[in-house]
Amino acid sequence: MISTDYLKRKALELQIPNTRVASAFPLSFERAIPDFFKRVEPKSVIVSLQNYPSEPLLPSDPLYGAIAPFARSNYYRLLRKKQEKLIKSLKLEYGGSYYVSCNGSLREKPLAVRAGLGSYGFNRIISVPGFGSWIVLGAIVSDVEFKPDGPSEQINSFCFSCGLCVEKCPSKALRSDSFCREKCLQYLSQIPEIVDEALSVWGSIFYGCSVCQSVCPLNIDVQPFEESSVFGGIGAFVYLPDIIFMTDDEIKERFRGTQLALSWISPEALIKNALIVLSQSAEGREFLYKFIKAGRLSLRNIAALLLERFA
Ligand code: SF4
Ligand code: SF4
Repeated sequence: MISTDYLKRKALELQIPNTRVASAFPLSFERAIPDFFKRVEPKSVIVSLQNYPSEPLLPSDPLYGAIAPFARSNYYRLLRKKQEKLIKSLKLEYGGSYYVSCNGSLREKPLAVRAGLGSYGFNRIISVPGFGSWIVLGAIVSDVEFKPDGPSEQINSFCFSCGLCVEKCPSKALRSDSFCREKCLQYLSQIPEIVDEALSVWGSIFYGCSVCQSVCPLNIDVQPFEESSVFGGIGAFVYLPDIIFMTDDEIKERFRGTQLALSWISPEALIKNALIVLSQSAEGREFLYKFIKAGRLSLRNIAALLLERFA
């Protein structure tokens, strides 16, 4: 087995804040299994994190919607670029084949636990000592057999079960013993349908929810984000009247290269989110009246329903 000293030193040189290694068995997948796994026998997984800034900003103008901190820039792309550079160094040193998953095909959270990088909190999110849960994860699978770090008992009991995330979850998606994805505002902001019970707690969400992270004491005194340049910046707020009349192509162009360009976030979902936020203020509802006459047909019913509910 190969020592991970060189690997971890290189990772730090590339400003990857924390990297640990796990055995590659077993692997589970979020999406279709890539061809790489049909021709290469995986031996190790190199799991890394990228932290991101976490200021809990809310718009003061009702015509703006909020973006959750993890999506304000494309932190996955930032980490992926660093992982690709790390692979170049590892190939030169050890040879071998490598596959990167960063918000990709692999289920990265269980790998972070197996590597002893972090552990699940009550909020079902991975938290890491020194970084809390304001992180994105990425994994590199290789047929080179690096020495695994293994899980850490100390890290596995990191969440101290204070229950604040459960108590403050706006939609009651989180319970101490369960999580209901269909109630979670993060999930609901990715789909075009509206769920009646979520409307009264929606607030100013244009994309994402991070309440169960904002209230978590594990996120106090975490390492600051220190990158000088990031990719795919959107910022914390989006002006919504511009969004609701856009075509799919215009929305794709507006958010090209950002976290909102992911294939599973439909343009209709983003317009629906904007309509919900706008329906909550008199100024915003003016745009909904226009939308009912001139907006996309598939969402006019939703706009009418929102006007009925909030007017
Ligand atoms: S993301 Fe928001 S809605 Fe989902 S579990 Fe956390 S606090 Fe609840
Ligand atoms: S808020 Fe409390 S219970 Fe929830 S993840 Fe953080 S430490 Fe654990």
